[in-house]
Amino acid sequence: RGAAGLLVQPLLRAVIMGPPGSGKGTVSSRILKHFALKHLSSGDLLRDNMQRRTVVGVIAKTYIDQGQLIPDDIMTRLMLARLKSPVKCKFIFLKGFPRTVPQAEALDETCQIDTVINLDVPFETIKQRLTARWIHPSSGRVYNLEFSPPKVVGTDDITGEPLLQRDDDKPETVTKRLKAYEAQTKPVLDYYKKKGVLESFSGTETNKIWPQVHAFLQTKLPEVSQQEAASH
Ligand code: AMP
Repeated sequence: RGAAGLLVQPLLRAVIMGPPGSGKGTVSSRILKHFALKHLSSGDLLRDNMQRRTVVGVIAKTYIDQGQLIPDDIMTRLMLARLKSPVKCKFIFLKGFPRTVPQAEALDETCQIDTVINLDVPFETIKQRLTARWIHPSSGRVYNLEFSPPKVVGTDDITGEPLLQRDDDKPETVTKRLKAYEAQTKPVLDYYKKKGVLESFSGTETNKIWPQVHAFLQTKLPEVSQQEAASH
């Protein structure tokens, strides 16, 4: 019960943020298993539009192919259309949106965010994770230095030929992506910090971050059975 003695309805309008490689995907799917929230992922929504070749999808593809963000007006229209009614804005869990301050402002006008879960993983850890993949080009064999390393560093187990890193997995590319994330997202984190809704969870392992996120969300929402969660 709230201060006035009225029954307080639990509500959760949450956003998850974190750099590429921070474990956002894993933490998100665990959240959705435990809590009845309506999940909206901007990346999934864009990929769906691209697959169906909608007008938005065709436009989005030109930006994504160049590694650029979709313009704010297109992105906000796409996302906010799904949150306009008061019912739809009650238990939401957003991923990938907002990515800029104008998007965060537009979102607040439609549906006020009350919780931002920020995965704060050191860049060094992320770099180690994202650069761990090495491939043997002619066979397509994939090694991971952390989970499935080759017997001899830098060479394929079967042929003994040298292993290569994909461009995306090279340290300089990963550093670039992390820097771009920081430049874009820091202002968004600051925006939510000022509003007092930013909750940061720090760590180097997803399995240690998740229990903290779980415990925090349990203070906000009742947990549901896995069956119930799957139907949302
Ligand atoms: P993601 O799966 O979240 O990494 O999204 C894939 C791509 O879609 C990104 O690299 C961006 O080009 C674009 N995108 C996703 N969400 C947004 C957003 N909120 N604002 C602008 N572009 C976005």
